Amino acid sequence: MNQMKPNSTSLRMFFVMFFIAFPVFVTVNLVYRNSSFGLFEGFSEGKEHRGTTQNVTTLQNVTHDNLGREGDSNSVSSKLGGGVKELQERSQSHKGRTKNITAAHGGSRTASLRSSTNDSNSHIANLDDNEKLLSGLLTSGFDEASCISRMQSHFYRKASPHKPSQYLISKLRRYEEIHRRCGPNSRSYHKSMTKIQHSKNKGVATMCKYLIWTPANGLGNQMIDLVATFLYALLTDRVLLVEFGKDKHGLFCEPFLNSTWELPQNSPFWNEKHVQTYQILLEKDKATNSTAELPSVLFINLQHTRTDPEKFFHCDHNQHVLQNIPLLILQSDQYFVPSLFMNPFFNLEITKMFPEKDIVFHHLGRYLFHPSNEAWELISSYYQQHLAKGNELIGLQIRVFSPNTTPQKSIMDLVLSCMLKHKILPEVDLQTLASSARKNQRVKVVLVASLHGEYGENLRAMYLKKHTVSGEVIQVYQSSHEEHQKSYDNKHNMKAWIDMYLLSLSDKLVTTSLSTFGYVAQGLGNLKPWLLYRLINNETGFPSCEKDFSSEPCYHVPPKHYCNGNPMKDFVSSFPYLRECKDFRFGVKMVNNSI
Ligand code: GDP
Repeated sequence: MNQMKPNSTSLRMFFVMFFIAFPVFVTVNLVYRNSSFGLFEGFSEGKEHRGTTQNVTTLQNVTHDNLGREGDSNSVSSKLGGGVKELQERSQSHKGRTKNITAAHGGSRTASLRSSTNDSNSHIANLDDNEKLLSGLLTSGFDEASCISRMQSHFYRKASPHKPSQYLISKLRRYEEIHRRCGPNSRSYHKSMTKIQHSKNKGVATMCKYLIWTPANGLGNQMIDLVATFLYALLTDRVLLVEFGKDKHGLFCEPFLNSTWELPQNSPFWNEKHVQTYQILLEKDKATNSTAELPSVLFINLQHTRTDPEKFFHCDHNQHVLQNIPLLILQSDQYFVPSLFMNPFFNLEITKMFPEKDIVFHHLGRYLFHPSNEAWELISSYYQQHLAKGNELIGLQIRVFSPNTTPQKSIMDLVLSCMLKHKILPEVDLQTLASSARKNQRVKVVLVASLHGEYGENLRAMYLKKHTVSGEVIQVYQSSHEEHQKSYDNKHNMKAWIDMYLLSLSDKLVTTSLSTFGYVAQGLGNLKPWLLYRLINNETGFPSCEKDFSSEPCYHVPPKHYCNGNPMKDFVSSFPYLRECKDFRFGVKMVNNSI
């Protein structure tokens, strides 16, 4: 017995230590995995992005409206930080902040936020499932805390008038099942991938087929291309895997239930360079009229310029060949949905999935892109602190494609001419100086998204301490100004994602022609934007902006030939649901109406 004593004491000690250490380990691990301090440093202390920090501080902390009233002085940084528990607490306290905002302004936007955030602590759980699952677009069963935005986005965005079709819903549920069965970590994944790897250059039949998405260009380009790639995966029963580098770490939640869409880092196909290309396959096909020797892996580059050789990706014959290749690696920066629509088989499927043809991005974008908890904390707190205050939110995206040849003033003149002419913003009243606030004034909040801080500052200065002729109060905010586009930079991408998402919450949107950054915002938000003329120097004599006819992104480089090799001249007569884009006459986009 005596001999036993030390053992039972150590056992007890072990259990005591275990029960203390295990929860601590789990908590620390969760906090670490969900921590956001990297970005917050950038936003609040300026350790890495000094320009941005200064800008955020200037525009957020000292936001005067046009009556000279000082705005909200809470800096974003003071609201940020922490792990999952804190995020959840904040999401509960969301209703408190919203109530204050509502009491102060009583605006329509805050009213809708208020009505969706009732007094019960379990308000998220009690929400109408149909509303939070976007009328069946999203599936239930996700761990809500792992992706708060998935359940809260409808607080912030107006309910979409477009309901997903039953056919689209059934396709998505079927896809999720295939992804769960064949996705990373599944037995089928390992079996199929091993087979593919061992027979890279000769054909093989596998249980599951894959489509690896690889990034090209800026985040907007990548997102529109990812939606097109996902549609292609849906149409071809392939499992979509994304090659997300560190630059996209922590931007999005996982979209597919009980699986991951990220290509595992240890996959032999990560950054794979030594595989046959689609172009070579096309040449072989043309030369020998035979594709008997098919590889197991094929790289397809659809990132074409207008001078590239024709890809014939929309043609039945080519799709038939591709169908027999188990792993496709696809690179594009284009929204190539219209080219899928040109294929007779895909056309039937797309038409069944999307009886309204001009909302493909709206549905698939909202299905795929949910801000991660880290991104959501930044988005929701910025929205509540600044944007929810108004009766109307106006998004203004100013993309300067040629900063060296386009004078800032020309761009500002263009922006103002568009916004004043279309009564998106009121003129300032130059006669009367604002001395005091009037009661019950309508507040318009403008969110400026640009790499350059001057545009937000100029607009804010214009409405500062001035009445407007309409009597409306104009408040201007800009969440960041990065000055330059950066590649493969996680914090930079996070700011871009935040801007795109916030813009998508607007009531009215003004974007820059040809910018895919704007396309993402308009598509998510189901907004038909006013397209600012794309200035490349200080030319004049053009309409400053035109209203777009659909929220779909424009496909900038559609096929140039029919499958028989004849040049494709008139899209509209061949494909009644395609139209020339307003912002780029060589591009096409889907419309709902064939007339
Ligand atoms: P596009 O070049 O306008 O079609 O849009 P992309 O998103 O493909 O590439 C532009 C990139 O520049 C973005 O992804 C951002 O990294 C950056 N950028 C451009 N405009 C803005 C902006 O308004 N806000 C932020 N945060 N980043 C921007």
